[in-house]
Amino acid sequence: MEIQKCKGIILQSRASGEADTIATIFTGEYGKRTFIFKGLRKSQRRSRSAVEPGTALQLVYYHHENKPVTVAGEFTLLQDILQVRDNLGKILNVYFMLEMVDKTSASGDPAQDIYNLLYSALTTMKTTTYPLHITLCFTLHLLHTLGILPDIYRCSFCGTVITSSFRIHIDDFNTICHSCDRANPASNRSNSIPLEVLGFVNDSFCKKFSDISHEKYNESDLLHFLFSISLFVEHYFHTKIKSKSLLFSDYEK
Ligand SMILES: [Zn+2]
Repeated sequence: MEIQKCKGIILQSRASGEADTIATIFTGEYGKRTFIFKGLRKSQRRSRSAVEPGTALQLVYYHHENKPVTVAGEFTLLQDILQVRDNLGKILNVYFMLEMVDKTSASGDPAQDIYNLLYSALTTMKTTTYPLHITLCFTLHLLHTLGILPDIYRCSFCGTVITSSFRIHIDDFNTICHSCDRANPASNRSNSIPLEVLGFVNDSFCKKFSDISHEKYNESDLLHFLFSISLFVEHYFHTKIKSKSLLFSDYEK
């Protein structure tokens, strides 16, 4: 048993017993961990918002190597996202980002870069007027950090740089240029994606989010692209992104 300290973001939480709350927390130091907050729901002093999904905490606790659930000791609030509460669009985007981290991460491994990425995406979400854009930017950086974002600027068949609308293979997230697509009609693909979307991908990696000219990117194009990414992630990690049905309700009818 040792005393540990970490910073983490609540991915999901649920009531347990009369007064406890169990939370899955993504920590920079130890990856994903499950904590139980004893008596939290009866406490006056400790705000319940501390365990709402998206909240960032600093935690101090006793760690037992072989116990699957850790009892949270002292904690301090680093950031809450109460500002997004009244904005359904933002809430759906937040839940999607949290689930993407949840479904692509494991326990035990340090993941400071993904923690920092999620923390700053949530900070930006509070004030931005482009919630979908921050979600897509975040998701691209997440895939890049995980090492599974292929070179999408080139056609995976012929190798030429993509210069017009393209398609994506959901199985491996490889791009297919317009002419290869016409010559080789394969199944299991998404609809065609306009070239401009690659401009947003480039901006996401080359510019600060606040410096991107978001108004020039069509929201439904970006949504369509993000939907393709979520299908790829589901395929790659053999999982189901549940929050996707809400964010992409127009696509799953
Ligand atoms: Zn090609």
